[in-house]
Amino acid sequence: MPRKQLIKNTRKIVIKIGTSIITENNAISKARIAELVFDILSLKNSGYSIVIVSSGAISAGAGALKTNRENISIPKKQALASIGQTILMNTWREAFLKAGCEVGQILLTEDDVKDRKRFINARHTFHALLEMGIIPIVNENDSVVIKEIKFGDNDILSAHVTNIVEADLLILLSDVDGFYNNLFDPEPIEEIHQITKDLIAKAGGSGSIHGTGGMLSKIKAAEVIIKCGEKMIIANGRASGILSKIIKGEKIGTIFIGNEPLSSRKRWIAFNMKSSGKIEIDDGAVKALQQHKKSLLSTGVIDIEGKFHLGDAVEIINKSGDIIGKGIVNYNFNELQIIKGKKTSQIKDILGSSYFDEVINRDDLILY
Ligand code: GLU
Repeated sequence: MPRKQLIKNTRKIVIKIGTSIITENNAISKARIAELVFDILSLKNSGYSIVIVSSGAISAGAGALKTNRENISIPKKQALASIGQTILMNTWREAFLKAGCEVGQILLTEDDVKDRKRFINARHTFHALLEMGIIPIVNENDSVVIKEIKFGDNDILSAHVTNIVEADLLILLSDVDGFYNNLFDPEPIEEIHQITKDLIAKAGGSGSIHGTGGMLSKIKAAEVIIKCGEKMIIANGRASGILSKIIKGEKIGTIFIGNEPLSSRKRWIAFNMKSSGKIEIDDGAVKALQQHKKSLLSTGVIDIEGKFHLGDAVEIINKSGDIIGKGIVNYNFNELQIIKGKKTSQIKDILGSSYFDEVINRDDLILY
C-alpha cells in the first residue's frame, strides 16, 4: 500500500532519538539537535502532536566529565545519567526556545507503566502538556532504577510511551536505514505486518544479520506497537529532514503495521497486567476465539497452570504451548480446575452457583 495512504490518519507521533543521532565526538551535538528541532517543529506546525523520547543522558554525562561510559559500575553509570540528563534537556530546551516552543521533561521507569495509578497520572501529564502546545521529552529515569527493573533501552520505553499517549505512529530514529532481510539487499524491507521467529532471529538471535546494533530491541518495540494496532517506522536519523519526508509519505525505512487500534482496556490487559497463570484450550476453542471472535467457555478449557483469582490476567495457550492471547479470568483456579471441559449449562450444578457464562469474556480478551 502507498506509504501516504498508510499514514494518512496519523495525528500523534512519538519520535525516539537514539544517542548516536545526537552525539558527536562523545558529546551532545547542538548542531544535530538544532537540525532535528527544525524538522520536528515543521511537523508540529502542520498540526501533529509530538512526543520525543531522547536518549543520550549517559553519554552527555560521560562527555561532561571526560570519562568513559563503558566498563564502569552501575551506580557510576546512574551518576553519569544524572549529570547528563540536565545537559541533554538544556540542549533540547535551548534549541526549541529559539522557536518559542517550551518543552517538559518526563522521566519514566517500568514501574510507572505497570502501576495503574502512575500510568493514568503519566497519561494526564502528557495530555496536559500537549494541550498546552508543549513538547514532552521523555527518558528512562536511569538514576533510580537498576537493571532488573529497567525497560532496558529507550526503544521499548518509546513503544510504551506510544501506548500511554495513544499515539498512532512511533518513529525510531537510529543510525540504520531500516530492517534488512539480508545485508546484501540494497534497500531495507518496506513493510512488516507480523513479528515472526525468523525476524527475531535476524534481528539479534542466533544467526543474526543485524549484530548487536540494537535491532532486537527495535523488533521488541515493534511487537508492542503491532499488538496495539498502531504503526512504527525505523529510519536513519542522520539523514536531513527525515521526519518531514516520512510524513509527506516518502517510502523511507521500514514500516511496521498493526491492524485495528486496541481499546485502552485491552492495551492495559496486554501490556500492563501481570499474568497470574495459563489456560490451555482445545482446537475448537482456538477457532472460536480466533475466527468467530467468541468468548472463552469452560468447555474449551483443557488444563490450567498457576493460582489465579477472579479478575486476574492469564495467558491463553494452545495444545502446542504457544501463547495465543491473554485475558481477565472470571473464575479462580480451583473453580476452573473443576469446571474445565464442562458445558456452561452444567456450571451451576457443579459449583452451586454460576457467576458467569464465560471463563473469559470477549471484551476482556486480546489475541496475539
Ligand atoms: N536512557 C539512556 C540514556 O539516556 C539510553 C538508553 C538507550 O539508549 O536505549 O543514556
